[in-house]
Amino acid sequence: MTFTKSMKRARRRHDLNRMKARARQIYPRDVEAKCANHLQTCSCYACGNPRKHFNEKTLQEQRAEIAAAQEIARAWPAANAAEHLSAV
Ligand SMILES: [Zn+2]
Repeated sequence: MTFTKSMKRARRRHDLNRMKARARQIYPRDVEAKCANHLQTCSCYACGNPRKHFNEKTLQEQRAEIAAAQEIARAWPAANAAEHLSAV
């Protein structure tokens, strides 16, 4: 599906209004629906980014690193075998 430039803008505005309506349902006191894009109002240690509070990588970053390492291991199995041999 292709949109012209004006249709893209209309879609973005429609989506923002939809998300603002949802944010107002969840947080009725927030009349301006400032959290409409993310619905997050808290950044305590339990809710916030682990990099900020614990100097850890996020789960998404950890998964990406594991996937990249597996991809490399699949692509060059001989190179990894040589690394294991040299490490011993
Ligand atoms: Zn919190």
